Amino acid sequence: MTDLQAILDDIHAELSPRIGEGKVADYIPELAKIDPNQFGMAIATVNGDLYSVGDAAIPFSIQSISKVFMLTLALGKVGESLWTRVGREPSGTAFNSIVQLEREEGIPRNPFINAGAIAISDVVLAGHAPREAIGELLRFVRYVADDETITIDDKVARSETQTGYRNLALANFMRAYGNLDHPVEHVLGVYFHQCALSMSCQQLAKAGLYLAARGSNPITGHSVVSPKRARRINALMLTCGHYDGSGDFAYHVGLPGKSGVGGGIMAVAPGIGSIAVWSPGLNKVGNSQLGAVALEMLAARTGWSVFGD
Ligand code: GLN
Repeated sequence: MTDLQAILDDIHAELSPRIGEGKVADYIPELAKIDPNQFGMAIATVNGDLYSVGDAAIPFSIQSISKVFMLTLALGKVGESLWTRVGREPSGTAFNSIVQLEREEGIPRNPFINAGAIAISDVVLAGHAPREAIGELLRFVRYVADDETITIDDKVARSETQTGYRNLALANFMRAYGNLDHPVEHVLGVYFHQCALSMSCQQLAKAGLYLAARGSNPITGHSVVSPKRARRINALMLTCGHYDGSGDFAYHVGLPGKSGVGGGIMAVAPGIGSIAVWSPGLNKVGNSQLGAVALEMLAARTGWSVFGD
């Protein structure tokens, strides 16, 4: 049996001279304040073990990782008809790109770029006031992570509401093309709050367990989605979870993963466990620089790549 704690300790020790690499997201004022000298990693296994190292208990802004949970909720509500609103192909463009959205007439390439996630927020909003939709997401995340202490950081949500000009542009574009049913401010209210979910690596690793274990949390027995749906969400994470860095992440790490500009990555080793890493410094395409390196080291040492060991 691989000694996962020893592997995590090794990765941490090897990377510690590099902690602080990359650039924190400064286009969201509240995130610009984050100390880049932090690094945490956690693994939750389908057997119920939890391993962690470094700053794995410190909550951080999960940002776009929330798009995985919102996609799960939206699929639960409208099923496969979701795919008339958003595509399933890698975008090859930045997470907040506008050009492609115009060329493709308001249908975002996939649920994990900003435009796609905004369309998904619109789906989850149906039949609710924005506050209720946010409450539903929070309940869902607490349920999958089996942790009632998870919260949303209102300061981060406010900071993005005040400065999210590009997201406002994306939402207005989609509304103009008829791909948003609700007022732009309501949809973005949901979107900014989901991005402001605050979770630690330990909580995030546990939250991803349903994707590692055929749709159910193996520890609590909570059933979340069918095995088929879990497999498909993993496929989307693998192909689209790192924006225009998705190919590179698959090449180096070989696991379905979703990144966020808060510097977190949640990755899934199907049948084995769920992994979360956090290091706030980002690379050029907005993914955690050291986070990806740490996951590459983990995949190399464990042989967990979905493409073979
Ligand atoms: N809230 C961020 C934004 O909309 C999410 C982006 C991300 O994490 N890649 O810009």
